[in-house]
Amino acid sequence: MTAPQENRTDSRQMLGRLRSVMAEEAGGQTRLDRITRLIADEMHTEVCSIYLFRDQETLELCATEGLNADAVHHTRMRLGEGLVGRIAKRGKIVNTDNAPGTPGFRYMPETGEEAYSSMLGVPIQRLGETLGVLVVQSKEARRFSDEEVYAVEVVAMVIAEMAELGAFVGEGAAMSARHQQAVLFSGATGQEGAAQGHVWLHEPRVVVTNPIADDPHRELERLTTAVEELRVGVDRMLSNAASGDSAQLQVLEAYRMFANSKGWMRRMEEDIARGLSAEAAVEKEQSAARARMSQVTDAYLRDRLHDLDDLSNRLLRILTGQGNETGAEMPPDPILIARNIGPAELLDYGRRLKGIVLEEGSVGSHAAIVARALAIPLVIHAERVTTEALNGDLILVDGDQGVAHLRPDESVVTAFRDKMAMQAKAQERYASIRDKPAETLCGTRIALTMNAGLMADLPSLQGSGAEGVGLFRTELQFLIRNHMPKRAELSELYARVMDAAGDKRVVFRTLDIGSDKVLPYMKAVEEPNPALGWRAVRIAMDRPGVMRMQLQALLRAAKGRPLSVMFPFVAQREEFSAARAEMEKALERERILGHPLPESLEVGAMLETPSLAFSPDSLYREVDFLSIGGNDLKQFFFAADRENELVRRRYDTLNVSFLRFLEWIVERCAENGTPLSFCGEDAGRPVEAACIAAIGLRSLSMRPASIGPVKSILRRTDLTELKSVIDNARDSGVQSVRPAVMEYLRGKL
Ligand code: PEP
Ligand code: MG
Repeated sequence: MTAPQENRTDSRQMLGRLRSVMAEEAGGQTRLDRITRLIADEMHTEVCSIYLFRDQETLELCATEGLNADAVHHTRMRLGEGLVGRIAKRGKIVNTDNAPGTPGFRYMPETGEEAYSSMLGVPIQRLGETLGVLVVQSKEARRFSDEEVYAVEVVAMVIAEMAELGAFVGEGAAMSARHQQAVLFSGATGQEGAAQGHVWLHEPRVVVTNPIADDPHRELERLTTAVEELRVGVDRMLSNAASGDSAQLQVLEAYRMFANSKGWMRRMEEDIARGLSAEAAVEKEQSAARARMSQVTDAYLRDRLHDLDDLSNRLLRILTGQGNETGAEMPPDPILIARNIGPAELLDYGRRLKGIVLEEGSVGSHAAIVARALAIPLVIHAERVTTEALNGDLILVDGDQGVAHLRPDESVVTAFRDKMAMQAKAQERYASIRDKPAETLCGTRIALTMNAGLMADLPSLQGSGAEGVGLFRTELQFLIRNHMPKRAELSELYARVMDAAGDKRVVFRTLDIGSDKVLPYMKAVEEPNPALGWRAVRIAMDRPGVMRMQLQALLRAAKGRPLSVMFPFVAQREEFSAARAEMEKALERERILGHPLPESLEVGAMLETPSLAFSPDSLYREVDFLSIGGNDLKQFFFAADRENELVRRRYDTLNVSFLRFLEWIVERCAENGTPLSFCGEDAGRPVEAACIAAIGLRSLSMRPASIGPVKSILRRTDLTELKSVIDNARDSGVQSVRPAVMEYLRGKL
């Protein structure tokens, strides 16, 4: 049924009146009351009501024209409850000529709404975030026309913008001030550690102060000029983009496509013609894209919607003049808040940051790797943090628990300070043993080295007390660039690493890419199961060019000094032999060219696949050393993806089967005289590290911040005793020796 002609609503007229209401000096409640009256009048309905969130789960009737006035601030419903609760939950419109007969309807006797048949309810949303619900109701059974729905939607959007600006705060407590309540974000750990600081938004929020247009012609002109500027900017970026960088080009091409999209432009022009300002029209489109984004599961489509979102942000910045230079000053203790961030951008901020909270990200992401190198606490998967946080807000980052407290209450701040003080005390303890050896109570010396990969890691060589670099992940230098590094560049970089290390040994691992580590400038290969796919030494064997260049760079960096190199992800002896042969060839080439050769050369393999452990003895003798890559070895041993949150933590490192396997590797190395170390994340976890040492490993490589805690526990532990605790637990038939070990180690941690 379409609306009768006399019911047609002119959205421009309604917005014009709305602007007058907003311009009047009035308290928040009075404004809301006037708005509901105005909408009911313009829509020719008996009822108009505004429901706003009281807390994250409850909606409250905050203003009404037509329903029982006593119900205001008394009628409440949970998210998903009744038609209003459903609209808020799903973010979708309800338009019905028979509300009481619609599934989900809940009768609220105090409101007197049973008399109304028709109902149009729209979510009050700002950039995909639902703030409440706007409802009109009438006795006459009719469905609202598209034009009417549009008008109510636009008004709801303007209300959301006004709420953002604090227009409904105060007097009668219509709405508590937005962005003032405490919010707890439960995400996941990206990097441990605790930090207190103030919010610094990577992308500042653009604030739209004039959602309603004064003059549509002028708004249209503003939009056209801004879009033109945007197109020129995108074209410029395209012509500046490195031609070999296909991923970047692809993104920019998508930008250009959107910037020139007629549909996008037409919808914004229509919104302006109906009374919105240019900014509000852009934001309306952006909201729609975000709403779609939350429902789309296809990764490619989501990326494209992200592109559209980014483009809308650019356009908003052009229109509002609120560029990245919003005039805000970075606080002295910045906690970076972003949806996601690239490794290069993060390195630009560097050690200035006290903490980082991301909406997206993953434990293996490049941002997480950089955060770890810089030892900055990082919380990932903190949903909606970019919409909630404002520049300058107080925020506490608890990287250990994977949570962040935004605008915390005093009691939370106090408890958090206690935690930080305890950590600081522990740091003092670690500093006091920095120059002491990791010698256990039974007199066993364990070599503790550090994992590195960035220039930012080098200062830790001195500060952490590391005895060298047990794993230098060379791929990080490839991952943080947007082009393939040149040989001379790499050689200089490796030389700087060796200079910084002085007499200490540095083990360079050749490029370990593929699986989760995809170079932005290399064509990504679609693989059904990348973790088991074309990665690391497998790529190096099939396309040896890059590895040859890297080996040459390493030999030249050594400039006659000792050199240690290891190959990642070797699954069988032949692969190691082939990789070693490449090294011999590179050496020979350098010899012919008359370049200085390393004083000594060690070539090892990472033991990351069970198959390598079961190789014949000849493998153990052929390698100069083996280093257990526990992260990968564990994922293949248990067939549990290290990146998959559903299974990642399912199997304990102290599981008896895994420990037995590690112990057997130690025995085989001892029989064959093969030096062995362990360089996965477990080496940096004190309890795991102590157990790994107890079963016979004598060299552990870990992130620099773990050296103190691991050394501290080793110095208080008798490995023979711990070994018998492990053995006794195993004999008793348990799945994991952890409970027994924890019992034994209590008081030493
Ligand atoms: C490992 O697999 O344990 C390892 C050290 O390598 P990466 O984490 O870089 O794969
Ligand atoms: Mg690995």
